[in-house]
Amino acid sequence: MNYISTRNSSNSFKFKDVFIKGLADDGGLFIPKSLHKYSQKDLLELKNLEYKDLAKKIIYPFIGDFMSKVDLSKIIDKSYSVFRKKNVVELIKVGDRSVLELFHGPTLAFKDIAMQLLGNFYEYYLNNKNEKVNIVVATSGDTGAAAIDAIKGKSNVNIFVLHPNNRISPVQRKLMTTSKEKNVFNIAVEGNFDDCQNLVKAMFADKPFSKEIKMSGVNSINWARIIAQSVYYFYSYFLIEDNEKPVNFSVPTGNFGDVYAGYLAKKIGLPINKFIVATNQNDILYRAISNGTYDIENVLETISPSMDIQIASNFERLIYDLKNHSDEKTIEAMMSIKEKGKYIIDKESLDKINIDFLSSRMNENEVLKTIKTVYKKFNIILDPHSAIGYGAFDKVDLKGNNVVLATAHPCKFPDAIEKAINLKAELPNELAFVVDEKENYDIIDNNLTKIKKYIKEKI
Ligand SMILES: *Cc1c(COP(=O)(O)O)cnc(C)c1O
Repeated sequence: MNYISTRNSSNSFKFKDVFIKGLADDGGLFIPKSLHKYSQKDLLELKNLEYKDLAKKIIYPFIGDFMSKVDLSKIIDKSYSVFRKKNVVELIKVGDRSVLELFHGPTLAFKDIAMQLLGNFYEYYLNNKNEKVNIVVATSGDTGAAAIDAIKGKSNVNIFVLHPNNRISPVQRKLMTTSKEKNVFNIAVEGNFDDCQNLVKAMFADKPFSKEIKMSGVNSINWARIIAQSVYYFYSYFLIEDNEKPVNFSVPTGNFGDVYAGYLAKKIGLPINKFIVATNQNDILYRAISNGTYDIENVLETISPSMDIQIASNFERLIYDLKNHSDEKTIEAMMSIKEKGKYIIDKESLDKINIDFLSSRMNENEVLKTIKTVYKKFNIILDPHSAIGYGAFDKVDLKGNNVVLATAHPCKFPDAIEKAINLKAELPNELAFVVDEKENYDIIDNNLTKIKKYIKEKI
């Protein structure tokens, strides 16, 4: 498979470049030049596979000659052997909807599912190469932990994680900062997540710097993450017996990565009806999808910090589709966002968006209330992000098989859980030790020069 950038459709790239670079040199996002599409018959063949085998089938066509089928198969088995469930994820019934639990990996959030695979892709790629890569990534709380767990202790690769100081939960922070491995560096930036993400983007854009340190990215725009995430849409779709009724997914959304992975599954033939883009009070995507104004506002702190984002980076991939694959028109839209902080989606494009996507938004009280109601009625504790996904179905009128993506384990957000139901959500035994472990991180100003200096000193 060949890839292009959303900002230049004439140059073509292989999966290796797409994976290692993360972001294209022109600032655009990588996407496949064309997509294969599964037929009804193909889907039937995928239907009864175990998670790992399904992942092998779905992912292989995207990685081209990066590795053989046999190597990919080994890597997928290895990556998913660290999950607490044999089939990686679990689908449970909670009231009139299904909840897809994606948090049974080592750091208790859905990001493990893609990140464990990426960690092993790096190891495979760097094995026997005289090359050292430095991963630099911004996190709103969960990406960092998942990336550190996947990269720690691997040879020829360092990882630098930038998180917004005091704006992630202590459990989220401890899962990142208690790693003892020498190739792990945590930076607490005096700013919010968008500041962290902008610092990473600026470092990528600084070609002499990014070349010198051989910088690589694993944030949610990395295409390898998207393809790994599209697997669970297939898996859960197949688990739902009744294919007479349409299947809808509600996805707690920040960077538009996870929900884009679902949209990709639909594009390659999985007959999903609608996606609900579920947001917290940082509702830029809600406003974009319901009335066409993509208008950046200040980031508010909420009890669902992994969604405290105003710049939804993966949205550019959808804009490219809306612009009928015109790189020029995509650049125009992205420049408008960059310069004016605002982009108005025309009526025709908005209608197109609404074929696949609806959106709903929840305020803090609604999130707490959803956690409480679900607990009282069904004895299930949803984390605040998953609660936003769950409650989203109450705000739109969608009949059919409704599936909620549960993106994190409730114990990552104990304060919110306590506030909602007056209970302490316990860490699973395997992870309880992090609470008393020594933490290691450096607090640095929201200042590009200082961060670059720090990184250069450490490598
Ligand atoms: C990252 C994250 C999200 C948002 O996912 P995107 O791919 O950025 O839209 C939602 N919930 C949790 C728990 C997360 O960690």
